[in-house]
Amino acid sequence: MERRVYSTCPFCGVGCGIVLHTREGRITWVDDDPANPSSQGMLCVKGRFGIPFVQHPDRLTTPLIRKNGEFHAASWDEAIDYVAEHLVAFRGAFGSFASAKATNEDAFVQQKFVRLIMGTNNIDHCTRLCHSPSVEAMLEQLGSGATSNSYADYEDASCLVLVGCDPGANHPVIASRMRRAIDERGTRLVVVNPRRIDLAERADVFLQPRPGTDVAVFNGMARAILDEGLEDRTFIAARTEGFAEWRAVIEERTVEEYAEISGVDPAALRTAARLYARPPARRGLPPAERPGSCLAWGMGITQHAHGTDNARSLINLALLAGQLGRPGCGISPLRGQNNVQGCGDAGCIPDSLPGYQPYSDDVAAAFEEAWGAGIPRQPGIKATDMVERIADGAIRAMYIVGENPLLSEPNLSHAEELFRRLEFLVVQDLFLHETAQLADVVLPACSFAEKDGTFTNSERRVQRVRPAIPPVGESRPDWEIVCRLARRMAPMVGVDQHQFAYTSAEEIFAEMARLTPQLRGITYARLEREGGIQWPCPSLDHPGTRYLYAESFPRGKAKFLPVRQAEPAAELPDAEFPLVLNTGRVLYHWHGGTITRRVAALVEQMSEVPVLVHPRDAGLVGISDGDSVVVRSRRGKLTGQAVVTDAVREGSIFVPFVKLQKSAANFLTNNVYDEPSRIPEYKVCAVRIERKRPRPSVIDGPPTPERGT
Ligand code: SF4
Repeated sequence: MERRVYSTCPFCGVGCGIVLHTREGRITWVDDDPANPSSQGMLCVKGRFGIPFVQHPDRLTTPLIRKNGEFHAASWDEAIDYVAEHLVAFRGAFGSFASAKATNEDAFVQQKFVRLIMGTNNIDHCTRLCHSPSVEAMLEQLGSGATSNSYADYEDASCLVLVGCDPGANHPVIASRMRRAIDERGTRLVVVNPRRIDLAERADVFLQPRPGTDVAVFNGMARAILDEGLEDRTFIAARTEGFAEWRAVIEERTVEEYAEISGVDPAALRTAARLYARPPARRGLPPAERPGSCLAWGMGITQHAHGTDNARSLINLALLAGQLGRPGCGISPLRGQNNVQGCGDAGCIPDSLPGYQPYSDDVAAAFEEAWGAGIPRQPGIKATDMVERIADGAIRAMYIVGENPLLSEPNLSHAEELFRRLEFLVVQDLFLHETAQLADVVLPACSFAEKDGTFTNSERRVQRVRPAIPPVGESRPDWEIVCRLARRMAPMVGVDQHQFAYTSAEEIFAEMARLTPQLRGITYARLEREGGIQWPCPSLDHPGTRYLYAESFPRGKAKFLPVRQAEPAAELPDAEFPLVLNTGRVLYHWHGGTITRRVAALVEQMSEVPVLVHPRDAGLVGISDGDSVVVRSRRGKLTGQAVVTDAVREGSIFVPFVKLQKSAANFLTNNVYDEPSRIPEYKVCAVRIERKRPRPSVIDGPPTPERGT
């Protein structure tokens, strides 16, 4: 019998509504959901054609235990006993990665297991690798680490400023809503990116700065706003602090000097500043409303050794222009994975409890009362440091759920060397990927299509995920596996087993909502009745919140923080490695490609790593479009296919970080980190490129004098 199951796309943070059509326990096709308020009946190529990974023959179907170097299939009882008996010995030297692909309920149970059973706050997830600088800066300056606006605000804005992001490739449905605003409402567009992205074709101003000079760009825009008196003085006076000190730093340089540092045209910098601060009203804007501007940014801002300073400079700009707290404006760090917002909300971060609540005595006491045991009150180790600290023995065992750090960490050869030193590694996932191949135990998890739960998208909308097909093989939902392990270990550590006796995802969500003020008014019954709800939703009669900061900021007044342009990057080009490597994503693959490499329709579109190189740089080393090329850094090399294009700046190349045919950008990237976020500098390192020499033909043999050379 054919069924239709309404659920949420498992790929990017847009969180589109999808309809899974099934017949006899298999997904037959996928459709959009016109009623979904985030996606409004749209889906991109990944959402529509990328779901076959769910039933790929590579899916793990049974637990695996490594014995004498080989994996052996095991029963669930055997595997859980084995993991419990080993893990308990590593309390105090243990770390865990949660999955931003799993549900809120999976995440909540995992952080509870880590805190209550393993007695540590060493839990983190991929936000460390994408938007931790944004969250640090927003928490510090505003008091909340979330996107302030909704997707509807992109369409209500009079100006969009897109910085270091490529929504056409990475958030395609948001890009469609932006294009609609530009084409139908006359919304102005400013694009700031070292690479000419598709949306730049529609831009009123396109700034292509030198990699690593973002602070100079945004301080330059701020200086231009101040020079022309376009700042929002009422907003600054009533709702901010630290303006005078910040202004003094901005005025240390002129617009021309900032433009010189970043390699952009000063006149274009001034135009961008005017459009952002005082955009002309879009078509159809009621006369009483002040034209608003939305500022959206991606990992081009954050993945730098000064990523937090970059994010601070953007927030300063939004405060200066008063572009917060109204419809049609706001700030958006565009989130990468489907549930990266929810995984953080649920508490899978080392420096706070669920709902970003601090380890203060009153908050910790509330959790301890609910959970019936003590929890650690010191911040844990961040994800990138967990990997580095395998070296000094601070981390000796890890439990990794739905993540593949041996694709996502920088400097992969170094990361692999560290992972091989772990004394005990458990990986819980869908596929036997690069990290799982090193594990002592592998536990098979269900995909999104086989379980109940919720995801929270980039506009803070909590949406339902529903089971469409039975679990593949003996796989189980992540929360069920962790609960089973927790119940097995609870008596060993003096915790009440009943803390992990949930019988449904709904029961877990209810506990999370009770303990998290911004989710308190959301229930499964409401989600069934009303569809997705945007947090903060503090009570059952609250409708949810479209945009934040209408009246106040969580920290009281928002704070200007002075930042100065630092050295562009930790590693800059030299004679041996003369080019800058920039990394990012592509439309047809998702992140490292663990999932999309298993979707034939997507691999057909892109089967080799593209290497974008400027025509002049290509000419210098004799590379033509389509050539096989080798890119080397001080840490490793990759092979890819040259795409000769002036979309990249002269002196830089772009390589997406998907792994195809054994090549991945992260073999090249540099394991240096931003403070305080500890994000790696994925966006800049020094490389060189050369044409791959064809192998000598085996039939021809080595050249000989007789045959001529
Ligand atoms: Fe899925 Fe993102 Fe594409 Fe929407 S835009 S269908 S959430 S991958």
